[in-house]
Amino acid sequence: MRKKIVAGNWKMNKSLPETGELIAGIKAELSTMPDAEIIVSPAFTNLYYTFELLKGTGIKLAAQNMNAADHGAFTGEISAEMLKSIGVNTVILGHSERRALFGETDALLAKKVTTAIENDMRIIFCFGEELKDRKAEKHFDVVLTQLEKGLFHIAKENWESVVLAYEPVWAIGTGETASPEQAQEMHDFIRKSVAKKYGDDIADEVSILYGGSVKPENAQELFSNPDVDGGLIGGAALDAKSFVAIANAF
Ligand code: 13P
Repeated sequence: MRKKIVAGNWKMNKSLPETGELIAGIKAELSTMPDAEIIVSPAFTNLYYTFELLKGTGIKLAAQNMNAADHGAFTGEISAEMLKSIGVNTVILGHSERRALFGETDALLAKKVTTAIENDMRIIFCFGEELKDRKAEKHFDVVLTQLEKGLFHIAKENWESVVLAYEPVWAIGTGETASPEQAQEMHDFIRKSVAKKYGDDIADEVSILYGGSVKPENAQELFSNPDVDGGLIGGAALDAKSFVAIANAF
């Protein structure tokens, strides 16, 4: 069954005490677990603390990145094994900030995807076009290329470990959200692209999240689209009330 998911990508925000406060706030706001699976993704330094705080809550934990290598001389990097050893079984890969600011290419992401799969980790695979691509009407091509080069090398049986996150770069942190129609149109295209390559069964099962200025005010309309299975939330995930309101928007 296709899962509904609301994931909070905290990016480089929140110290250790602030992490504790935000988790406490989310727990307090969540009177009952919503229909959607809830995931939070704090900074590396706060992952283990968050793992401890989330015990027994049903809220899941994700890392924001990891290295493609298993171990070795990669100063400052974090491996899949390290993440798994502290209870983190999900990793966000391919976020547009990693692509744009840290030079992560499709080829590197393909390696990271392989490493995550080899380590039995679930992947939240992010992709999306820039404004110039949309203006040039190349957004479908750009998205398909990102999928083909970064993800479509995996085997059919690995798709149960994949969540897709369409994040148009022009909508991230800008306050500008894709309209529900734009989101649905692209999600439909993404699902059809998965179906073409892997078949309808896989395409029907995969959750496709939308990311880019999701707020309590627009979540319901976005999530009501048949191919939008949830959201990857940035700014609004840093506030417990807003994040839980989004999680309850289904
Ligand atoms: P905003 O919700 O702040 O636009 O960020 C979206 C995002 O990048 C989530 O990964």
